[in-house]
Order: sequence, then C-alpha cells, then structure tokens
Amino acid sequence: MNIVIFGPPGAGKGTQSKFIEDKYNLYQLSTGDLLRNEIKNKTSLGNKITSIMNSGELVSDEIVSNLIEKFISNKDYKDKIIFDGYPRTISQAKNLDILLNKYDQKIDIVLKLSVSLETVKKRILARQSEEKRADDNEQVAIKRFKTYEEASKNVIDYYNQSNLLKVINGETSITEINTEISGIIDAIKG
Ligand code: AMP
Repeated sequence: MNIVIFGPPGAGKGTQSKFIEDKYNLYQLSTGDLLRNEIKNKTSLGNKITSIMNSGELVSDEIVSNLIEKFISNKDYKDKIIFDGYPRTISQAKNLDILLNKYDQKIDIVLKLSVSLETVKKRILARQSEEKRADDNEQVAIKRFKTYEEASKNVIDYYNQSNLLKVINGETSITEINTEISGIIDAIKG
C-alpha cells in the first residue's frame, strides 16, 4: 500500500506518518526531511536550497523528483511508502503517477489533514522551541500556509477525481486522528 499524506505545515503529517509507519510497517518519505538533511550535510544541493527553504517557497520539481525516485525505485520500499510533503503541486502529482507507474506501483489512499491557519500558527510556534527548524517562525509559517493553500487546490481536485481522497479533521487530538486514519486504511486493506 502506498499512501499520500497531505496538509499544511503543522497539520500533523509527520506525527501521523510515524504512527502509520509503525502500525502498518510502511516507510515515511518526507521530502522536507530529505531536503533538510541536504542542508545539514552541507551538500552542494543543500547550499543551493537553503535560502529557498528558509523563505517558505517551494524548491524545484526536478530536485524533489530526483530525491523521491531513489525511494520509489528501491525494491525494499515497494508498495510501502507514505509520501509526506509530496506532491505539493499538480505537476508533482502527475509526476508521482508517472514515477510509480514506471516501477509498477500506484497510490492507494490520499489522506488530507484539514487545519485552520490559527491552529497552524499555534503548533508551529510550539514546534519552534522543540525542534529549532529555521523555517518555523510565525511569518514563514503564514507564508508556507499560503503557499500550501494556493498549490493544494488543484492537487486535491486531482485526487478527488480518482476517488482516492479522504479528508480528516486535523483539529482533533492525535489519538482521535490515529483512530480515524486506521479505520480508513483497514477498510481499504479489507
Ligand atoms: P515540510 O517539512 O514538508 O513542511 O517542507 C519544508 C520545506 O521543504 C517546504 O517549505 C519547501 O521549501 C521544501 N519542500 C518540501 N517538500 C517539497 C516539495 N514536494 N516540493 C517543493 N518543495 C518542497
């Protein structure tokens, strides 16, 4: 089973992906984490993307596509990926279909965590003191939320058309969201 988890920054994508990963023996593929690793390791790619990421803009489709293909092409991860933070645009959604098809795979579920800007701001400010992410401050949080809202409409429509989309209220507690997600996955696994 391959899952896409979708939602604005601070929606709980990382937390919920970790839960799904442990419960269903899948692998979380967070493009944000992969990109942050490049920056941490001071690779040439990392140096190129630092200022883009710190401003809350998206890095190029080509960069993220190359990063995710490494996972999709790896047999260890076949039909076991939770895509966290990808796709973020319609062109990325189409590219993901092409890549998965190339390696004889598909998306089984798209989970959308819905949360308000107010909640996002609160959560990001709380995370700022715990994780010290360079892009976790109120101004950049608002920018990332707006970037998400603009780009996500088309992506949501795209997955809605193929009946893959499940919308989840991301304002409730972590455990309540866990339960809702498990119900959806179990129903599809049969
Ligand atoms: P995230 O950890 O998912 O909130 O991502 C943090 C930052 O990484 C974003 O604000 C973007 O700058 C970059 N990023 C992560 N995933 C993508 C993607 N799929 N496409 C473009 N940029 C991305």
